[in-house]
Formats: sequence, C-alpha cells, structure tokens
Amino acid sequence: MRRHDSVERLQSLQNATLESIARGEELAIVMAALCERVEALAPGVVCSVVTVDDDFRLHPLAAPSLPRAYGAAVDGTPIGPRVGSCGTAIYRKSPVEVTDIATDPHWEGYRELVLPLGLRACWSSPIAARDGRVVGSFAFYYRDQRGATPFERRIVATCVHLCAIAIEHEEVKARNHRLAYFDTLTGLPNRARFNEAIAQATSGPRSGFGLMLIDIDHLKTVNDTMGHSIGDRLIEAVGMRLAAVAPKGTAFRIGGDEFAVLLPDCDKAGQLRSVAGPILAAMQTPIDCEGTTIVPSVTIGGAIAGEDGTDSVTLRQNADFALYHAKETRRGGYVRFKGGLRTSMTRRIQTVRTVDDALSAGHLIPYYQPIVRLDGGEIRGMEALARLRLDDGRVVAAGEFQDALHDPKLAYRISNQMLAAIAADMAQWQRDGLPIPYVGLNVTSADFQKGDLVQRILRAFERAQVPLEHLVVEITEQVIMGGRRDGVARTMEALRERGILVALDDFGTGFASLTHLLDFPVDTIKIDKSFVAGIEGGTRNSAIVEALIGVASRLGMRIVAEGIETEGQARRLAAMGCRLGQGYHYAKPMPAEAVPTFVGSFSRATSASRLRPAATAA
Ligand code: GH3
Ligand code: MG
Repeated sequence: MRRHDSVERLQSLQNATLESIARGEELAIVMAALCERVEALAPGVVCSVVTVDDDFRLHPLAAPSLPRAYGAAVDGTPIGPRVGSCGTAIYRKSPVEVTDIATDPHWEGYRELVLPLGLRACWSSPIAARDGRVVGSFAFYYRDQRGATPFERRIVATCVHLCAIAIEHEEVKARNHRLAYFDTLTGLPNRARFNEAIAQATSGPRSGFGLMLIDIDHLKTVNDTMGHSIGDRLIEAVGMRLAAVAPKGTAFRIGGDEFAVLLPDCDKAGQLRSVAGPILAAMQTPIDCEGTTIVPSVTIGGAIAGEDGTDSVTLRQNADFALYHAKETRRGGYVRFKGGLRTSMTRRIQTVRTVDDALSAGHLIPYYQPIVRLDGGEIRGMEALARLRLDDGRVVAAGEFQDALHDPKLAYRISNQMLAAIAADMAQWQRDGLPIPYVGLNVTSADFQKGDLVQRILRAFERAQVPLEHLVVEITEQVIMGGRRDGVARTMEALRERGILVALDDFGTGFASLTHLLDFPVDTIKIDKSFVAGIEGGTRNSAIVEALIGVASRLGMRIVAEGIETEGQARRLAAMGCRLGQGYHYAKPMPAEAVPTFVGSFSRATSASRLRPAATAA
C-alpha cells in the first residue's frame, strides 16, 4: 500500500467513525466498525476495545475478530499491575506493549485464554477522556511475537482519540438519559419514563398488567412542621423501600410525593394486593431523620388493565379514583378501583367545582337558626349554618355540598367566608340593638389543621368590631377524634382564654364518650337530633339524654337540644332539666335579613303567651 493511500484510508476511517458518533449510532456498533476498518487497514492485526467501570472492572466493548467466549472470560476482571496488556495499561495509565505473551509476566494467569486462539503478542493503549480519566483501552493482538510498525502506531494514535470521543459521547448521552428519565432524589425512573412505560404496556399485545398509585400521607404537615429537607428524606426513604419491595424495575416516582408501580403479567386482584401488602408493611419501620423519628405512611390505589380500563388514560384515572377514595376511607391502606367509584367521584368533583365557583363568586351565605329557652321565654342565640346560592337561584344547605366539605381547602375557605359574614351580621344586629347574646360557628378538622383558627377569628371580629364573647365555636366529635388531639385541645383552650365559648356539636353521633368531656374543655353540649327524635317514645333515648343532662349540669356545662320538632319533645326535654333548644318547632334557619323580624315577632309572641312558641320563619 502506498503511503499516500494509507494516510487517506486512515483519514476516511476517522471521518466515518466521527460521522457514526454524530449520528448517534450505538457505541458498541461504532466501535466494532472501527475495529473492522482498522483490521482491513493493518493486515495481521486483531483489534479490541475494552472499557473500565467505576469499580475498576474491565468490560469488552468491541472485538469482532475474537471469539465471544474470550470477551465473556475477561468481562468483570478487575484491573491491576499484571492483568494482561489491557488491565495493566488502564491500571498504569500508559501503554503496555507485550511482544511475547507466552513469557511476559503481565500475562501470567491470563495467557491460557489467548494462546489457544493463536495470539502471541498484545499492545494495549489506554483511552483517556478529556479530564484525564482512563475510560478504557484500545488493543492490537498479533499472531507473531512482534512489536508495532510505525504505521500501526499512527493508526493507534488516531483510534485512541476516536475511542475517547465515542466513549465520552456515550457518557453524555447516558447522563442526559438519566436526567430525562430518572428522578434525582430517589434514583427511580420518573414520570416521563412512566408515561412511556404505560403507553407501551397498553399498546402492546394484550398481556394483563396492574397499576398502583402510591401517595405519601401528610407530607405537607411534615414539610410544615419539620422542614422541607426532612420532607425530602421521607420521599427518599419511601422511594428506596418501594424499589426494594416492588418487583425490579416496576417502581416510578411520578410526582412530588406520588409513586407508581407498573406490574407486568398481572390480571387478578389478588396479584396486585400481594404486592400492595408488602409495600405497606415495608413503610412501617421508623426512619431517623436528623434526630427526628418518622414512621412513613402511604396510601395505595390500584387498577388492572383490561378490567379497569384498556387505554392508559382511563386506567390511570381509575387508579387515581381508587387512591382518592382510599385517602378518605382507608388512609394508610390499599383500595382497588370499583365501577361505582367513578360515578361517585365524578359527582364529587362536580360538587367541589360548583362550591369552588360559588365561593369565588361570593355566593356563600350564612342562615341562622335560633336557639331558644325551652319555656319559650327568650332567644339565647343563633347557630350559623352555611348555605350556597346556586346559579339557578336555589339556596342549598350544607348537606347538598357535603362532598366539598371533605376537601380541606374548600372547608377552610368556607369557614373563612362564614366568619367574615357572621361578624358583619352580628355587628349589624348590635347596631340595631337586637338581643342576640350568642352566634355559633361550625368549624371542621381543616380549621384545626393549619393552627391559625384563633387568629382568623380575632381578625374577623376585630374588623367588624364585635366582642369575642358573643361567639360560640361549635365542633363535632369527629373533629376531636380525627385530628391531633393535643392540637385540638390546645386550640380549644386558646379560644376559651379569649372569652369565646366552645360547644360540642352533634353529641352522641360520634365516638366520644362522656369521659372525653373531662379531657376537652367545652362550655356547651348540643344533643344530636337523633336522640331528641326518639325521646317521647323510647325509654333508651330518654335514659341517655337524662344521664347526659345530669352529667353536663354537674360539670357546669350548658345543654342545648337540637332538632326539636314538636311541643311534646320540648316539654319532655324541659322536664328532664334541659333549658335550651333549637329546631323547626321554634324556627327554621333563616337569612340574616329575616332575623330582626323574627326576633321582633318572637318577643311579641312570648310576651303575649309565655308558653306558646313563636311562628316559624323562613
Ligand atoms: P395527603 O396525606 O392527602 O396525601 O396530603 P399531603 O400532605 O401528602 O399532600 P399532597 O399529597 O396533596 O401533596 C403533596 C405535597 O408534597 C405537596 C408539596 O407540599 C409536597 N412536596 C411535593 N414535592 C416535594 C418534594 O420534592 N420535597 C418535599 N419536601 N415536599 C414535596
Ligand atoms: Mg400526599
């Protein structure tokens, strides 16, 4: 070959390789093509490229003229001062030129791998990245005991450079892929990867798969009370446990605190449950974050492809419905999608949207139901009840938008708007000289969660210039039982310190026992209307109510009976020692504008007859 020709061919080898790299061809293919071109250019040479990993182990990358078995034997060998030509060259970061493998000490322990292949000499050159790291080696094997020719040295100089470019390019590609498809906090594949995986699973040949959506419980509270970095540690721990328990490669982090498991070959509910169970169990070990101990808790919703949706959108939506339902009914547990969930969720979403719009438009209005002395003598207060004016003009009671009250954000907004409206109405009644000593405001768990209830009340009443001692905060047993007990009790104590009264609403419907009355500082107990309804006929209800009235009066608490509908009920309650009540028998809830007329007619009626209740208003 003429020198001019060979230089040209080396040049074209270089161009072809660079072009393949630029086109994004697979590294092993680019390198194999390089080896083949080199072998065509330098007869008698067998060419090989190996890489080295972070644990300093060799991995064959390309050696098209060597048997696969040789590559397999070398794969995973740690580099060292006497590990053939390549392992030694990488270790020393300098070329190792062995002209007689049979006798050279560098090949001790390895020569039996190559001598039977008819290879006698090996010259290996380290491949260095731009930052100086050695990332592999490029080797020439010879069938004779010999060293390299000057032209072969030129080829190697060029090839080592090309290999460095190709390997570094691959590293950049891998890093970009990691960033695009893996979450940096947990190391799990991310949402983009999940989207691809689920699209692939739903478009491929029908083989069942299961989907679980997993959401961390109360992460916002962890962030708020312990700091964002502890929140991060919690996400990290949940991710690690999930990766350890779920079958390999099935777990993803698809959002802030949301994970997914895509379970192949799963077409039975039991299979999905058998993975959900261990995931929940794995969470129960406490984690120690910067001196704080947290027990992670997650809730899981599951759906099975085919049965619960064939396209990825429906399937995810259904798993989401199951998760949403689980958060409300089985927090910390697993719920599989059921057909009925879809309708109830759609209705709920619709309600939440309606209430959200109504709140934004200022269509929330308080209605007031009077609390009177059972002897009909006097109005002692009003309970404010949330009503919503819909676009069609109808005014609906809270029962019709109960779903929205489960949404903590909406519940919080509702009580905020109620507070402002109540304070304004009370200010107006004060100016009008109406004798209404107390107004009751209903609060929910959402009001206690943020820990700012007292401040919100203070702000609203200060703005309206109404003294706080006219307010009664009504809380249900569910609020006491459901929230962080010490937090609820502290808030109740803080309210009472400000002169605000606290009433326990719907007493008897929850789980509170009489002993809770000793732990929680309340001024008033409101007996639920379910007891009042049966008071005339049933001895059991009468006995409970009578006992309750006895205990409450001994503890210095006031009793209000709710839902009184008949004169008979009123008389019976009065005979038991109950002095206050509310219900349709006295008045239905009414808008603020109707209150002055009602109060006026009530006083006229009571002065005319101290026994007969007033006419029902609104
Ligand atoms: P739930 O129990 O109903 O799941 O409520 P949650 O408090 O866990 O809140 P939710 O699941 O509705 O929302 C997730 C919250 O997680 C929102 C955000 O404040 C927080 N979050 C999202 N991403 C991160 C993150 O990368 N780090 C931390 N520390 N918090 C995050
Ligand atoms: Mg969450």
